[in-house]
Amino acid sequence: MPRKRSIRRITRGLRFRLTVAFALFFALLFIGVAALFRARLKKELNDQARATLDQRWAAVKGYLRIERNPSTNREEAYWYFDATDTDENWIVTSIHQVYLITDQNGNVLWGDTEKGEVLQCSPIYHDMGVDPPALIRDRVRQAVEWAQHQPPPGKVFWTERRDSQGAPYLIRAGIVLGEFKHDPYYVALGFPLAENRKILAQFTWIYIIVIPGALILGSVLGWFMAGRALMPVLAVAQAAQRISGSNLSLRIPTRRAGDELDYLILTFNRMIERLEASFQQMRQFSTDVSHELRTPITAIRGQLEVALFTAKSTDHYREAMFNALQDIDRLSQIVRALLLLSQAESGQLVLQKLPLNLSDVVRDLVEQFQIPADAANVRLAADLPTECAVQADRVQLERMITNLLSNAIKFTPEGGNVNVSVRSLPDCAEIVVEDSGRGIPSEHLPHIFERFYRVPGTAPHPDEGLGLGLSFVAWIVKAHGGRIDVDSTSGKGTRFTIKLPAAGVASDAAELTGQPVA
Ligand code: ADP
Repeated sequence: MPRKRSIRRITRGLRFRLTVAFALFFALLFIGVAALFRARLKKELNDQARATLDQRWAAVKGYLRIERNPSTNREEAYWYFDATDTDENWIVTSIHQVYLITDQNGNVLWGDTEKGEVLQCSPIYHDMGVDPPALIRDRVRQAVEWAQHQPPPGKVFWTERRDSQGAPYLIRAGIVLGEFKHDPYYVALGFPLAENRKILAQFTWIYIIVIPGALILGSVLGWFMAGRALMPVLAVAQAAQRISGSNLSLRIPTRRAGDELDYLILTFNRMIERLEASFQQMRQFSTDVSHELRTPITAIRGQLEVALFTAKSTDHYREAMFNALQDIDRLSQIVRALLLLSQAESGQLVLQKLPLNLSDVVRDLVEQFQIPADAANVRLAADLPTECAVQADRVQLERMITNLLSNAIKFTPEGGNVNVSVRSLPDCAEIVVEDSGRGIPSEHLPHIFERFYRVPGTAPHPDEGLGLGLSFVAWIVKAHGGRIDVDSTSGKGTRFTIKLPAAGVASDAAELTGQPVA
C-alpha cells in the first residue's frame, strides 16, 4: 500500500509530468523526422530507379531494330551493339535481365534467332508473367494516340510487379516503332527494386533501434533537467513549511537570477510580510482589547469590594453601585464599538448608498453640536453651500462627521474655534473639520487611525475616548471610496480633510494618509 502511494506521488509530481512531456515531445519529433526522412529516401530511390529505366529506354531505342526476317518471314527483334565495348555490352546485358517485346496484339516477338536467343521475354519477366494481350493492346492504342498529339517523349506506363519469389520490380512500358517507323511494338523494361527496399528497411530498422534509445536518453536528461529546474521550488516549499505563526520573520532568500522563481520568492516574501503585519496587528489588538476591558473590570471589582467590606449605609452601597454601573456602561460601549468595527471591516455592514445633499447632513449635525460646543465655550461655525451632492450612506456619514466634530470640540480648549466647511469640487465633495485645539504631535499622526490609539498624556477627559472614533472614520471614508488627510500642528490646531467621490463618480479606491485601520 505505501509503495503504491509513493508511486502515485511520483507520477503526480511535476518532475515526472515534465519528463513525460519531454519524452513524448521527443518521441513525436523523432517519429515525425524519421517518417519524413523515410518518405524522402523512398522518393529519391524511386526517382533513381526511374532515371535508370529512362536511360535504358533510350539505349533500347539506339540498339534495338525490329525487322522482317526473310527466312522466317516474321518481324523479329535485333540488338545491334558492339559486344566488345564493355559499356555497350553492360547496358544491353542490364536491359536483357528484365524485358519484354511484343507486337501490338501482345504476341511476344522472336529475335536474334541466328544467335540462338528466341523469345524477346527475359526469364524474370516470364516468371512475373507476360502482360495480358488486352492490356498490351490498350496501352499500344493509348501510346499511338498520344504520339499523334503530343511531342516526344511518348506515353510511358509505370507499374510495379513481383516475381514468383515476391521480389519487386519497377516496370517502364511504352511503344517503339518498327521498320519504316509505322508498326508500333510494345516494350517493357524492368528494374529490380529489392536493393532499394533493403536500403529502406535498413533505414527503418536503424530508426526503430535508435528511437527508443534516444527516448530513454532524453527521458533521463529530462528527469535530470526537470529536477534541477524544480529544485528552487522545493526549496521555497521547504522554507514555507518552516514558516509558522510564531516565526513569521523568516524569509526565503532570492537567488538573484531575476527569473520567474525569484519573482515567486519575492511575491511569497511580500505575502509573509503582510501576514506578519496582520499577525502583529491582531496581537496588538488582543492586547489592547484585554487592556481596555481590564481597566473598567478592575474598577468595578474594586468598587464592589470596597462597598462590600466598608459600606456602612445604603447611600454608600448606592454610590458604589452607581459607579459600577457607569463602568459597565463604558464596558458595553467598548464591546458595542468593537463589534460594529469588526462587522464593518469584515464586510458584514452593508452601506446603503443614496444620493444626498452633504450640506444638509453637516448643517443638522453642526446645529446639534452647538449645545456641547457652547458648554465647552468653543465657537462652532460652518461654511456650507446650498447644494453638494454625494452618493453616501447617511447613517455612516453622520457617524463620521459626529466623530470628527466631537474630537474637535473635545480637544479644543475654552475660547477656541471649530470650523466645518463643505465644498463641491469637479469630481468630489470635500469636507474640512478644522479646530484651533491642542493639535497632534507629528510622531503620533501615523497612528491616530489605529484602534485604541490615543495620543498619550494630554487627554482632557482621560476616561472619555475609546480610541476607536478615528478607526471608524477611516473605515467609513474607505467604504465610500474616498480619502482622508490630516494636517496638525502641536499646540495650534488640527485639520481633517475628507474627499468623497461626487454623486455619479465611480470610485472603489480608497486612500488614507495615516496608518490604515487595523
Ligand atoms: P477617541 O475616541 O479617544 O477620541 P479617536 O480615534 O477619535 O479616539 O482619536 C484618537 C486620538 O487622536 C485621540 O485620543 C486624540 O489624542 C487624537 N485626536 C483626534 N482628533 C483630534 C483633534 N481634533 N485634536 C487633537 N487630537 C485629536
